[in-house]
Amino acid sequence: MQPQPAPLGPCQPVAVPFIPTSVFALPDLDALEAISTGEAPGYIYARDNHPNAVQLESELNRLHRAAGTIVCGNGMAAITASIIASRSFTNNTGRILASDRLYGRTTQLLSQEVNPFGMTTTYVDTSDLAAVEKALEEAANKPFELLIIETISNPLLRLTDVEAVAKLCQKFGTQLLVDNTFASPYMCRPLELGADYVVESLTKMLGGHSDITLGSVSVRDIDKHARLKQVRSIWGFMGDSYPCWLSLRSLTTFELRMKQSIENATRLAKDLSSLSGVTKVHYPALPHHPDHALSQKLYGAFPGNMLCFELDGGREAVNRFFRKTKAIRFCPSLGDVATTSSYPAGTSHRYLTDDARAAQGITDGLVRLSVGIEPYEQLWGCFVKE
Ligand SMILES: *Cc1c(COP(=O)(O)O)cnc(C)c1O
Repeated sequence: MQPQPAPLGPCQPVAVPFIPTSVFALPDLDALEAISTGEAPGYIYARDNHPNAVQLESELNRLHRAAGTIVCGNGMAAITASIIASRSFTNNTGRILASDRLYGRTTQLLSQEVNPFGMTTTYVDTSDLAAVEKALEEAANKPFELLIIETISNPLLRLTDVEAVAKLCQKFGTQLLVDNTFASPYMCRPLELGADYVVESLTKMLGGHSDITLGSVSVRDIDKHARLKQVRSIWGFMGDSYPCWLSLRSLTTFELRMKQSIENATRLAKDLSSLSGVTKVHYPALPHHPDHALSQKLYGAFPGNMLCFELDGGREAVNRFFRKTKAIRFCPSLGDVATTSSYPAGTSHRYLTDDARAAQGITDGLVRLSVGIEPYEQLWGCFVKE
């Protein structure tokens, strides 16, 4: 016999209830029928749907002005679900066009995992609009089903003009998937700019506390949402109730955290260039960044909370820096409330050849920072302390 819930009387909990059940008890066959067909609201089995996911999805709909969102177990599951679902809305050429600077695991997904399913990928520099147009044009008699881009790329923060790319996609009948993880809906809402699918890794800024893995796909078209839900159930991509519940709490401070961490990053980008041993700072608000003009147009003076800098002395200099600045933890993720550092050459871009790394501008002295919400003086103190 299960213990019965304590009666609440007329009182409602203020905090969002955490509902970890894997299955729901139904009163009768009529209820089963109505819920299964979608005529009545309700839940049956947590892999298909559960209340904490639905609550999180409605928050993400609000943030992205979306018609529908699915929450998945992590960002990669969300990207995979989008690719699979997108195939139901095209001409079946099996061709994908993708940015040549995508998140490493996404590139591996495209180059190693989806090939057995009859899909081939072509890569293009999506910061270069003319190159995107040329690639789409050349494929006109066998068009790409999907173009995959990132709003802001890792680690050197190269930008893509989502709206301009979306217009090109519409012209050539190609769907557009935007991985918006580095920008987050605080900086960019790709669906409003014409994208068909927007993916977020909630593991990063949206989660904000390094305590969950979760991903999401948001769309403007309800047929795509229905197909995504089916893909999630059958392939098993659903996110668990506990991380969904934690994310709901994270979202209550999302805008505050983004505002503060981006303000910190803009100040740090300026101050870091005065630090001894720093030879270059990569931040789109700085005039020497290759996408500076686009950055000003899209994000004004505030192009996000991520930045990179280069240390004179390569790997050894980075080692010394990490040992000295212990308050800034070295960990290969981003988006935490605390500032963290990462080393692209040894983590995200480890498996590239030396030449390919060099071609992307990822040197042995390159450090990536995910800037947090610390009071600025405290943050700067971590860099200047002897
Ligand atoms: C982390 C990340 C992902 C993958 O998300 P997970 O939640 O780790 O699966 C995808 N894209 C980008 C840009 C990321 O930073």
